Amino acid sequence: MSRNDYEVVIGLEVHAELSTKTKIFCSCPTEFGAAPNTHVCPVCMAMPGTLPVLNEKVVEYAVKAGLATNCEISRNSKNDRKNYYYPDLPKSYQISQFDKPLCEHGYVEIDTPNGKKKIRLLRIHIEEDAGKLNHDDFGGGSLVDLNRAGVPLIEMVSEPDLRSAEEVEAYMRKLKSILEYIEVSDCKMQEGSLRADVNVSVHKPGEPFGTRTEMKNMNSFRAIVRAIEYEKDRQIEVLEEGGKVEQETLRWDDINGRTSSMRDKEDAQDYRYFPDPDLVAIRLSDEYVEDIRKALPELPESRRDRYIKEYNLSEKDAKLLTASKYLSNLFEGALAICGNAKAVANWILSDISRILNEKELEPENVPFTAEQLAKMIELIDKGTISSAIAKKVLTELFENPKDPEVIIKEKGWIQISD
Ligand code: ADP
Ligand code: ZN
Ligand code: MG
Repeated sequence: MSRNDYEVVIGLEVHAELSTKTKIFCSCPTEFGAAPNTHVCPVCMAMPGTLPVLNEKVVEYAVKAGLATNCEISRNSKNDRKNYYYPDLPKSYQISQFDKPLCEHGYVEIDTPNGKKKIRLLRIHIEEDAGKLNHDDFGGGSLVDLNRAGVPLIEMVSEPDLRSAEEVEAYMRKLKSILEYIEVSDCKMQEGSLRADVNVSVHKPGEPFGTRTEMKNMNSFRAIVRAIEYEKDRQIEVLEEGGKVEQETLRWDDINGRTSSMRDKEDAQDYRYFPDPDLVAIRLSDEYVEDIRKALPELPESRRDRYIKEYNLSEKDAKLLTASKYLSNLFEGALAICGNAKAVANWILSDISRILNEKELEPENVPFTAEQLAKMIELIDKGTISSAIAKKVLTELFENPKDPEVIIKEKGWIQISD
């Protein structure tokens, strides 16, 4: 048997922080980056005698996410307590959903080298985030920041349908793109707004799935891809040497590029789930769900099809542009001003994407406006600057964004064409 006979099987539990203004069970703000313990109140600090009140926006956002991923929306759902002890969880239980999640049985489509593939979603449920432990470099202890405690999350659980690290990346990017389009999460991975628990096993095709290991809280595409490659090879090696893969939770060490054990099945948690007696059941009318469905914005796939039809873009270009709501909005914004679809698409897909890559920036971090990009293209179209100069203008837009006309005047870059 050779190692190439194995297939890797992956299932993801993706957590997205919802961009509601306030927390899930109290009216504290959800905003990231505030001074520790300034976005807290008796409810999210778990003072005795306080009662949670469900934020209706959380239900609406989760239903939006469910509809955008082809889920069935449960008309009858509830909140459950998931009991465990950890210092960042002041109630010693997390309010989540157990057997009646809001959304079930959906799917998203990804592109693979062999064509389109459906990745099934088992469920999407709502829950609250925990606080954050800050390990104190000076006092030698740990300090708890409860600003994040009670920030609303959706957890999107996939079926084990993914078969490579590339498919996992495509799937995560697709989810991110959908959540950004429907504006339920800002999906900032570096701030932890989008993170995944990655379940990995290996088997030989035709045989039953192997035992899985789980890597928790991964929040970079690069780390996820590396961790899967590593874990796949490690498991194959264990099997090839006649051993058994243990079901365990692993920690990915990105610096040394390896996984290590966090806890094994022996200490598998018994969460003693039970319905939260402080919260009422969630009943949704057909009308409520239909109103949300009707208000859903255009999703990446239909935008892509429209770009092909309306602007004559190639399928590949249309797909690249619409994969990110931010690039797509930049395209539409600039196009509305300068009217040159081909040029705007080319600048975004070549030079702008290249610079984003070099600077390791995500599309939402483009520092200049659609208007500034449009102006630059107009200056080329009018013959005021050459495209070589435009490339310099673009570099300048990334460094110190302002009106391109001002840039070329200040730099003396005006082309004398006759
Ligand atoms: P838990 O809550 O204990 O993590 P779940 O039953 O919710 O367990 O499953 C979590 C994830 O594990 C799902 O995304 C599922 O697709 C994935 N999964 C289940 N079996 C396998 C397997 N054999 N290989 C890889 N992933 C798997
Ligand atoms: Zn609060
Ligand atoms: Mg899990």
